[in-house]
Amino acid sequence: MHLDPELFAAIHGMELPADFDRKKTSGFEDDPECAEYNPCASYSHNPPTGLVVPRGKRYRHVCPGCGKVQFVRSLNVSC
Ligand SMILES: [Zn+2]
Repeated sequence: MHLDPELFAAIHGMELPADFDRKKTSGFEDDPECAEYNPCASYSHNPPTGLVVPRGKRYRHVCPGCGKVQFVRSLNVSC
């Protein structure tokens, strides 16, 4: 999740350029506040906890309810 430029600037006490383009056009867009929320009620929406992923591998978990794909990465890999 990346930070909103305005929020980032506020946190770091920076000023945004005067011509900072807050909104280019009207319309719907992703609300970062809601990005974490998912109405899916599937019992296996999230990958199983305690999954051990071998080094160099990742586990692809596809929710059978909504089809959201999540990856579980090896704890040994920091990239
Ligand atoms: Zn789901």
